[in-house]
Amino acid sequence: MRFCALASGSKANATLVEVGATRLLVDCGLGPRILTRRLAEAGVSPASIDAVIVTHEHVDHIKGLAQAVAKWHWPVVSTAGTLSAVSGLPRERLMPTPYGTPRAIGELTVELVAVPHDATEPAAVLVTATRSGARLGLSTDLGHVPDALSAAFARLDYLVFESNHDEEMLRNGPYPPFLQARIASDTGHLSNRQTGDLLQRVAHKGLRQVLLAHLSQQNNEPTLAFDAACAVLQRTAFRGALACAAQDVVSFALGRGAQLEMSL
Ligand SMILES: [Zn+2]
Ligand SMILES: [Zn+2]
Repeated sequence: MRFCALASGSKANATLVEVGATRLLVDCGLGPRILTRRLAEAGVSPASIDAVIVTHEHVDHIKGLAQAVAKWHWPVVSTAGTLSAVSGLPRERLMPTPYGTPRAIGELTVELVAVPHDATEPAAVLVTATRSGARLGLSTDLGHVPDALSAAFARLDYLVFESNHDEEMLRNGPYPPFLQARIASDTGHLSNRQTGDLLQRVAHKGLRQVLLAHLSQQNNEPTLAFDAACAVLQRTAFRGALACAAQDVVSFALGRGAQLEMSL
């Protein structure tokens, strides 16, 4: 299994996950031109993608979706609620998938997990490689971490997880009070501290890579997110690699592109 964030942050999100010959895109916040360019950096052509998983309907996750589906005819896997909230998709491409119902795609299985976020029926994504059993969990827009999500993300091999804001930077930052309140709410986004709580719960010896995602460019710094996660992980059995995903370049949890990285 391999994965990389093609774009991650408040402006656009898209993550590539590959198991053997099967390729998934999780979210499609990039337009076809930039998406094609970023995929090429990962050695992948858009036509070879088997399906796109949509976590929720916010524009930073679907901006390029309708165009990409029209161009490359990808099946669109998401909850019925999210699919009903996205317009411009051909009906025959839609694959409504309830929470907790595994869906086999090529050499992997996808399962959607409920998350608290201010969207219609938002989801975290769990990908399991059929042959090796390797598991990747991805969740980037959630206001708090429900117990069911911590449980679903136990014993992962790979984790892509939101570390949206530093609480102090958000409080003292440029956003108006209503927007600050939305981000900090139970259905907004996770702070570095909240992300640390989740890491504490799911870190284990077998967790190989953690990619911190959806960092706010206004209310966070990669070094703050990284240091907060690092401080937590150092107190656990985790011995894998940690990195922050970036908005404008392809980010691998290990190797080129990641802004910061460290093997503990
Ligand atoms: Zn969102
Ligand atoms: Zn988002």
